[in-house]
Amino acid sequence: MKRDRDRELKARALKVIPNGMYGHESVRPLPAGFPQFFERAEGAYIWDADGQRYLDFMCAYGPNLLGYRDARVDAAAARQASLGDTMTGPSPVMVDLAETLVGMVTHADWAMFCKNGTDTTSMAMMAARAQTGKRIVLLAKGAYHGAAAWCTPHPAGVVPEDRALLRYYDYNDADSLEAAVRAAGDDLAAVFASPFKHDSFVDQALPDPAYAHRARALCDETGAMLVVDEVRAGFRLARDCSWSLVGVQPDLSCWGKAMANGQPLSFLLGSDRCRVGAGSLYVTGSFWFAAVPMAAAIETLRIIRETDYLEHTIRLGDRLREGLSAAAMRHGFGFRQTGPSQMPIMLFDDDPDLRVGFAWAEEMLVRGIYVHPWHNMFLAACMTDADIDMAVAAGDEAFAAVKARRDTLTPSPVLTAMAAARSKYAREALA
Ligand code: PMP
Repeated sequence: MKRDRDRELKARALKVIPNGMYGHESVRPLPAGFPQFFERAEGAYIWDADGQRYLDFMCAYGPNLLGYRDARVDAAAARQASLGDTMTGPSPVMVDLAETLVGMVTHADWAMFCKNGTDTTSMAMMAARAQTGKRIVLLAKGAYHGAAAWCTPHPAGVVPEDRALLRYYDYNDADSLEAAVRAAGDDLAAVFASPFKHDSFVDQALPDPAYAHRARALCDETGAMLVVDEVRAGFRLARDCSWSLVGVQPDLSCWGKAMANGQPLSFLLGSDRCRVGAGSLYVTGSFWFAAVPMAAAIETLRIIRETDYLEHTIRLGDRLREGLSAAAMRHGFGFRQTGPSQMPIMLFDDDPDLRVGFAWAEEMLVRGIYVHPWHNMFLAACMTDADIDMAVAAGDEAFAAVKARRDTLTPSPVLTAMAAARSKYAREALA
């Protein structure tokens, strides 16, 4: 594949951006062929800096819900942009949006707006502590809640004191949650949970209703706040909080990524149980009150309520899963697709250092399909049956190509180093 411009941009970036790139969009822990830079996006497709097009199963790591540059959402954003965006005070659309969310999400009695997922998860923690006057926060081991010092998965720049009041339990294990709750004594402020287990590198797991109900009961008993982190999965599983699917309502929920179809917006929703604590916080940001993303969110939420975007995305996800599963079987691969089909992760059996998964992702890339070898993916509502057919056909060829060179595959040194650092850190942090 052509990579001249991408290579040149990477070389320039190395001089003016630490390490050339940072955070989740750095391609260093991805197969070598993956481009770093993209010059445009439309619908379900992205074009790299060398002009090559890919069907994008990462959806910007979540923000692309309906399709890049969705005309309906873009028109709403443009209308608001012609009036004003970041101003000396918020626009009336802030109240409209808060009312819309309170009307859509069962547990929500109020909303507070910010920019990124980490803003909302950090704010949830503060609100829970302010409300309860207690300090300890329980997290599921390995769950991602953002990149602030209290939650980033990498050790650099973090000191033990940043995490001194965090304790960990095993997702979907009600007994381990209960043991952590008991160990917190009378100092428990909050229990965090993801809508489903969507950790990187491992099979995903839907929430066990018994675990979710126990989490609710333990929070009721102790007065702690139950927080569901919807940043990644919000409105991709349900038109309400995801745990409504298992009949559990949290006190707080954290949302980001998809709610404004790519415009920068996140929010914290809460019930009256945490209204006083939330209202007591001083939390803010220069761009948190910007009106354009809020107008985009109001339109995105209308589409969420009024169209079959969700059922369509699930149907395509099921077709993709069936097609790839049959192709993998034909070529003799143990290929695990877990998580909701519209948010799949794809991992190979007997592939502890991901060399097979990396090779398959590379083979997909050269066939114009962007898949991720160790992070969950996303389907966009604008995808079509023809897109899925193309992805399945590419998958079939990619399995054949990997099989042909299986004996020559080597592990990625960057990934191996990263995994070692992370697991050492996780062991120490949890010890
Ligand atoms: N929580 C979850 C579940 C996430 O997936 C993410 C981002 N991947 C975050 C929080 C943090 O969001 P952001 O990167 O927007 O700060």
